[in-house]
Amino acid sequence: MLIGGFQKFSLLEYPEKLGAVIFTRGCNFRCPYCHNPELVDVDRYSELISEESVLQFLLNRKGKLESVTVSGGEPTLQPDLLDFLLKLKDMGYAIKLDTNGSHPDVIEKLVSHKAVDYWAMDIKAPISLYSLVCGCSVNDKDILRSMNLIRQSGGDWEFRTTYFNQIMNWNDVLEIQPLLKPGDKYYLQQCNYNNTLEPIHNPHQTNLELLFSQEASTKLREKSHHYRMLNDAGKLQQIIIKMR
Ligand code: SF4
Repeated sequence: MLIGGFQKFSLLEYPEKLGAVIFTRGCNFRCPYCHNPELVDVDRYSELISEESVLQFLLNRKGKLESVTVSGGEPTLQPDLLDFLLKLKDMGYAIKLDTNGSHPDVIEKLVSHKAVDYWAMDIKAPISLYSLVCGCSVNDKDILRSMNLIRQSGGDWEFRTTYFNQIMNWNDVLEIQPLLKPGDKYYLQQCNYNNTLEPIHNPHQTNLELLFSQEASTKLREKSHHYRMLNDAGKLQQIIIKMR
């Protein structure tokens, strides 16, 4: 495993479980707003952290931490991901995997080994804008297949979209809605414009709450239960939408 970052303690990553977060190095997407460029851009790569040191730390914390989130970069690019996750499961950890959904074959393998308890997959954009938002060519069939595999995995899951208002507008968000099904949990989140992969001109955050409350969003509101998540400054950070 190429590990480019390790957070020893997080209250936020795994719902209701204290845990550590592992960031794998390398990604096949080039989202301009990516705020982990040191995991994505070869010229900005951070130093690797040894897998042994991470496993040893987690072995020592057994019983104190409950979960491990494997994020990126894109974890499904790591050829030894399954073995690594099974080692963590053997230690008793609940596993969350963050993925961009571009490798359904890997997801299928992880599902068949029950290696992941909680899935978090990005839906970057409506299908018509996918490649533009991701900065590379994306096969939409892969994305849709990954979504279905995750739904059938037997684990918990969430899908999430970062509202990148330099390319997307609110109608594009509403165009994502047909991809969602009853039972899906969907996080719509503000873009973090600090330390982005590409320079962002005139970065600003959108009033998601206002857009979500307007007439055009009625169908989405009616089809879901929804919650607001505020950041430390009391501003809206995410809308969590549970499809009915
Ligand atoms: S935001 Fe995009 S480029 Fe960055 S790690 Fe995620 S999928 Fe890769």
